[in-house]
Amino acid sequence: MTDCLASLRAELDALRAEGRLRPLAVLEGPQDAEVTIDGRRLINLSSNNYLGLNTHPQLVAAAVAAARTWGAGSGAVRTIAGTQTLHEELERRLAAFKGTEAALTFQSGYAANLGVLGTVLGEPDAVVSDELNHASIIDGIRLTKAARYRFRHRDVDDCEAQLAAARRDGRRRVLLVTDGVFSMDGDIAPLPAIVERAEAAEAAVMVDDAHGSGVLGRGGRGTVDHFQLHGRVLIQVGTLSKAIGVLGGYVAGPMAVRELLVHGSRPFLFSTSHPPAVVAACIAALAVLEAEPERQERLWTNARRFKLGLQGLGFDCGGSETPITPVIVGEAGRAMALADALRERGVFAQGIGFPTVARDRGRVRTIVTAGHTAEQLDRALDAFASAGRALGLLGPIAVARP
Ligand code: PMP
Repeated sequence: MTDCLASLRAELDALRAEGRLRPLAVLEGPQDAEVTIDGRRLINLSSNNYLGLNTHPQLVAAAVAAARTWGAGSGAVRTIAGTQTLHEELERRLAAFKGTEAALTFQSGYAANLGVLGTVLGEPDAVVSDELNHASIIDGIRLTKAARYRFRHRDVDDCEAQLAAARRDGRRRVLLVTDGVFSMDGDIAPLPAIVERAEAAEAAVMVDDAHGSGVLGRGGRGTVDHFQLHGRVLIQVGTLSKAIGVLGGYVAGPMAVRELLVHGSRPFLFSTSHPPAVVAACIAALAVLEAEPERQERLWTNARRFKLGLQGLGFDCGGSETPITPVIVGEAGRAMALADALRERGVFAQGIGFPTVARDRGRVRTIVTAGHTAEQLDRALDAFASAGRALGLLGPIAVARP
């Protein structure tokens, strides 16, 4: 017992020595365009609350009403006694939102990826995956016995080569998996070309649209809708924790996929379902998304303003095409120093380093939301200019405004 604890402490010390221990940022109030941390108001560029829905009065009212009517918890896993009419209503609405036959919710986006990959893929199968896919996809793949093929990030030719290799091995099913929008770089998968190559190789396609839903496509329907690929992507994974503003994940696709998941997906079978308040707030969020399209427009206006501002200052924002804009500065220490300097200047934007991104691609990742005002974004740009100059990341003269 003591030896185990001593060795755990040694492991922690090693992480500390590498400078990889960061205290948790603790918000002293709601998740919003500005947040309070350590008693200070900061402009918040670190959330996934794209549309500002998590504090929307309709979502809050729906959560409160559902807790009063249905209770605080669901009390069971879905397959025993944890399916309430609310859960099925949300799934019907998600299927309609995504334009699919059916949908199934999970406790988180992470659980959805684990659940679907573990069900769809077995030992006779193969998976072909973008090298920068989200950790939950990587973990989901690790839990299967399928053969694995990785292609270079967004590289359609390499994707085709890996599909061919998977096919050569005579697999039962081949599943091509990609993020719709990549969470660290904010770039979009070249989905039309990928789908074409997958079709030619008789492979099915799965898109994790955690950062595309609510952001891309008509009414925020996501990357598949953005590229008008309805019917050509077998499985769409989404999260209810980002633009939708609450918590959870879902798999949208054919009814046969839903039925298989209900009977075989381990996170679905062995973990308790969403509390009613969460489900009701998600249903309300889908209604708000439809009723208030201006939120998506504001998100994009803000994203463009901020991205142009950062680029105008001379920062390297990689290949970002969405409201996720990284400021790439090199090794992790520099990213953390920039994040600290921003915090001193009233901006909360987290530094991200190895192993989340490559060693030389450390960054501060920013995400603007529909809830930011132009004034807040301009103040944040001023903070980036000042911090960048103080750390020698920028030349002395730079014009911030787009
Ligand atoms: N997929 C991607 C691409 C993500 O960025 C995330 C969230 N970090 C997830 C899945 C997991 O979603 P959740 O937070 O709902 O578990």
